[in-house]
This record gives sequence, structure tokens and C-alpha cells, in this order.
Amino acid sequence: MEKRWCNACGSAFEPRPQSPRQAYCSEPKCQTARKLLWQRTKRRTDADYHQNQVEAQKAWRTKNRAYWKNYRDAHPEYTDMNRSQQRRRNAGRFRAPLIAKSDVSSPWPPPAGLFRLTEIHSDARTVPKSWTVHLSPVAPLSA
Ligand SMILES: [Zn+2]
Repeated sequence: MEKRWCNACGSAFEPRPQSPRQAYCSEPKCQTARKLLWQRTKRRTDADYHQNQVEAQKAWRTKNRAYWKNYRDAHPEYTDMNRSQQRRRNAGRFRAPLIAKSDVSSPWPPPAGLFRLTEIHSDARTVPKSWTVHLSPVAPLSA
């Protein structure tokens, strides 16, 4: 019988005769990974499917309004983790302004000194890196 390697866990398995293109073994975690990938791809590529999912989730939320409140009450560790992650995201979001203003009143070029250089991110989930840099003019500044 033909052997294949699972796309999720990498272990060898024999594909079932009913599924000649089988790429995942039958372990529940691998089947979950397969289903998740399928669903993500489907949502990204099929606008009707995506819209149906959005509407079904909205209908479910309307029908089960207390679900998340009950879940948070029963899982305080989830609430704490969520809260700390949101604090981290907010810290990245509300730092010093990311865009230089053209009408700013500070002198240009800036005088020599220490400055904070902050990476600009379009992805709000990651915290931007910052460096302290020392700027010193090569030629004397004109007054
Ligand atoms: Zn597997």
C-alpha cells in the first residue's frame, strides 16, 4: 500500500481507498487542521460563502446573546489573557505620532541629540520596535 506523509503532523499514513487524494492522516488534530485550512481558503476565495458565514454567525450571536458573557464568567483566565493582549495592542497603537507633520514648528534639521526611532507598522497586532539614536550634524548647523 502507498505511504504518504501528513501535511499537518508529518507522520506516515496510508491513504484510505475512498480518498485517493488524502493529504492528512486521520488523527483528530490533523483533521481539524485540514478543515481549518479549507475553511480559511474558502472564506478568502468564495465571497458568497464568506457572506453566508458572516450572516450565520450574526444570527447565532443574536440567538445566543449571553454566550460570551457566560463564557467569560466561567473562564476568568481567558478574560485576563484577552485583557493583557488588548493592553499590549493599545500600547503599540497610541504611541508617539507615526506620521511626521509638514507644519511642525520644531527646527529642521533637528539639533544634535538623542531621538527615538520607531518602526512604522501597518499590522496593529505586533508591537513596533523602537531604537534610541544619536544624531549629530556632519557640517556645522547654520543659524
Ligand atoms: Zn497527521
